[in-house]
Amino acid sequence: MRFTNISQLSNKNYDVIIVGLGAVGAAALYQFSKRGVSVLGIDQFDPPHNFGSSHGETRITRLAVGEGKDYVALAMRSHQIWKEIESLSCKKLYFQTGGILMDSGISPWEKHGTKSFLDRTIAFAKEFGIAHNVINAEDTITRFPQIRLESSGKTYAEEATGYLLPELCIATQLELALGLGADVLVNTKVLGLENIENGTKLLLEDTSLLAKKVVLTAGGWIKDFLPKEESRKFKICRQVLHWLEIESLHDLWKNSPVFMWGIGAQPEDFIYGFPSLDGRSVKMATESFLETDHPDLINREVGEQEKGEFMKNKVAGRFQGLSGRILKSSVCFYTVTEDGRFVIRPLQNHPAVLMVSACSGHGFKHSAALGEFLAQEVCAEVKTVELEID
Ligand SMILES: Cc1cc2nc3c(=O)[nH]c(=O)nc-3n(C[C@H](O)[C@H](O)[C@H](O)COP(=O)(O)OP(=O)(O)OC[C@H]3O[C@@H](n4cnc5c(N)ncnc54)[C@H](O)[C@@H]3O)c2cc1C
Repeated sequence: MRFTNISQLSNKNYDVIIVGLGAVGAAALYQFSKRGVSVLGIDQFDPPHNFGSSHGETRITRLAVGEGKDYVALAMRSHQIWKEIESLSCKKLYFQTGGILMDSGISPWEKHGTKSFLDRTIAFAKEFGIAHNVINAEDTITRFPQIRLESSGKTYAEEATGYLLPELCIATQLELALGLGADVLVNTKVLGLENIENGTKLLLEDTSLLAKKVVLTAGGWIKDFLPKEESRKFKICRQVLHWLEIESLHDLWKNSPVFMWGIGAQPEDFIYGFPSLDGRSVKMATESFLETDHPDLINREVGEQEKGEFMKNKVAGRFQGLSGRILKSSVCFYTVTEDGRFVIRPLQNHPAVLMVSACSGHGFKHSAALGEFLAQEVCAEVKTVELEID
């Protein structure tokens, strides 16, 4: 059942309560409900919403993920689960457009904590037998004339790459979970966690709930549950998405692949984008690693100067078929760790609480399989994909 009022839940005890119903929490809720576990998902907002890390129309998914060899199997498993969810819900979540990962070749660039990102991607593709091509700049421009890759550049092209619709992925998994007997409580903030015999007490504004196990998928708000020195390891980094107007004569962006492009030596020397979904604009963004203390303090406005800098520093001279106007922008945030890896472990001093966070800007594509991993871990099942628990 979907609740907005805690009093409707009168005295229910759950085997599992999931705190946070973004990408990872919604996936976990679906996976627990599939197993017949008595499970409740709670969110401080009404998901899918625009305040966390899982909104903004599209997310790239790719298989040979240079972020880590162990994540390749996770991405592959997620693709299988997205297909299963599509067939159960009759909704299209994943669009296989093909994808290109480009390196300007000016200086080596790192990404999500990983050096030599392009070379690692190619190595993983070879090792896992993932269909791909490596092409030079001339061939890249011939195949994708909307992109003006420098002559020193190199491109990894992967067929299985595409984009997911994040809001629909979350909504669909919540709906499926509700249909399978899960409960969902929205607009309710968990204020604290207390160890009790055989489980955890979740403190809410006027009352509390009990669960044998808690899965904490609070995204950037994980900071609220950690001691100060631990919390500092999770950097909240504001990100801005822009929708750029297409020049009316150009049809180049309609069937474009998703793209990622390393344009210099620094992690911020990067731009990525999508095909046009509406025929009028293409979504593009860079990455920023400037830290904000807490998700609640993020500036949600995007100023004209900021838009101008994005156009000048990241877009100008790199693309064809754009008018130069930004039609709209949206703010989101990453939760980043030093090495860019996910953190999955029991919450400090809370043995019955499993925390999952810091998807460091690359977690959406993995969320379906992460949800499955969490359910398998808590239900003591054999794992489909092995991941380290710290
Ligand atoms: C701009 C941008 C672009 C990205 N692009 C990609 C991409 O192309 N491909 C990719 O794979 N990944 C991408 N990512 C990363 C990916 O989107 C994130 O890793 C992922 O969505 C994080 O999901 P989450 O569930 O951890 O966090 P969230 O989606 O933020 O969910 C956390 C939830 O917990 C709730 N919550 C927190 N505290 C409490 C509390 N105390 N009580 C109740 N509820 C609480 C919040 O309200 C929220 O709903 C991108 C991220 C951003 C920001």
